[in-house]
Amino acid sequence: MHPFDYYKPKDFDEAFAMLTQPGKKVIPLAGSTDIIPMVRDERWLPDAVVDIKGLPGLRDIKLVDSGPLCCAGQTAQCLYIGAAARMNEIAHSELVQQYASVLAQAAQEVGHEQVRNRATLGGNMGTASPAGDTLSALLVLEADVLVKGKDEERCIPALKFFLGPRKTALQPGEIILGVQVPPLPEGTLGRYLRISRRKGADLAIVGLSVMAIPAEGGYQWRIGLGAVAPTPIRVPEAETILATGHDEATVEKAIQATLAAARPIDDIRATAAYRREMVVQLTRRALQDIIAQIP
Ligand SMILES: Cc1cc2nc3c(=O)[nH]c(=O)nc-3n(C[C@H](O)[C@H](O)[C@H](O)COP(=O)(O)OP(=O)(O)OC[C@H]3O[C@@H](n4cnc5c(N)ncnc54)[C@H](O)[C@@H]3O)c2cc1C
Repeated sequence: MHPFDYYKPKDFDEAFAMLTQPGKKVIPLAGSTDIIPMVRDERWLPDAVVDIKGLPGLRDIKLVDSGPLCCAGQTAQCLYIGAAARMNEIAHSELVQQYASVLAQAAQEVGHEQVRNRATLGGNMGTASPAGDTLSALLVLEADVLVKGKDEERCIPALKFFLGPRKTALQPGEIILGVQVPPLPEGTLGRYLRISRRKGADLAIVGLSVMAIPAEGGYQWRIGLGAVAPTPIRVPEAETILATGHDEATVEKAIQATLAAARPIDDIRATAAYRREMVVQLTRRALQDIIAQIP
């Protein structure tokens, strides 16, 4: 395997000094469930990794007040999830289940038990695979991504964070500190569904996040898709259709709009045609599940 140095910084200053060494390709390391297979297969060849798991606050899951960067202007508290929080911690967190149930469900779908005990939210975002399970959930939650570089922190809406396969809005030397999920009204419903070849050992062929948020006169809907475009995507056309009602004919129109937004490719996991069919099936199932819960 390609050799690389391993650094374990004691604080952020040390971490950024290590991450910004001139002429060296140094990347953050969290659970390493993507890094080790990628280095083994010689798809990533870092000179060094900086283990960021122990940095202060990176494993917190808590409610936070409105801040100057993320969660700005909110009158209620936002849910903060540190980048190094493990998938199992997120899936089992009562706070995440209460404030962002679609993300708890998505985290529960990642890999198998051992993977979920190591894999982190920040790692899923850093890898930015279009099939990453948590990514479409972050889009429908309209989460903010708090990132930190050597000299400043900034906040990037999740909707602008994923730029392409393995491409994010992170600048070199920046790390993800965590995400902040804006408060949602009581009665918000969420569903994450996915299909894969082998449960626990493969990425999604299609991943789907749906939310219905109580709004004046009905519900506001949000739909996010994974693994059917170069990045996870929202489907505003279907969301607009569902805002007019959720009778059978309207649901079918929304399913067709979701299908129209998908731009899948053939790859080792599935053909584009199979993915399109799965978009239809998963969207119908998720919408029916949510509609059945609407009082
Ligand atoms: C057997 C197996 C099954 C899997 N199944 C799934 C699955 O079902 N669904 C799924 O989505 N994924 C799956 N994965 C992929 C992987 O587990 C996830 O993408 C995981 O969330 C990566 O997290 P990590 O902490 O291990 O990341 P790492 O491997 O440590 O890092 C991944 C990337 O993110 C960067 N990074 C990590 N943390 C940060 C940070 N805080 N700031 C900036 N960059 C950062 C790293 O530099 C690297 O580029 C699977 C992997 C394996 C080995």
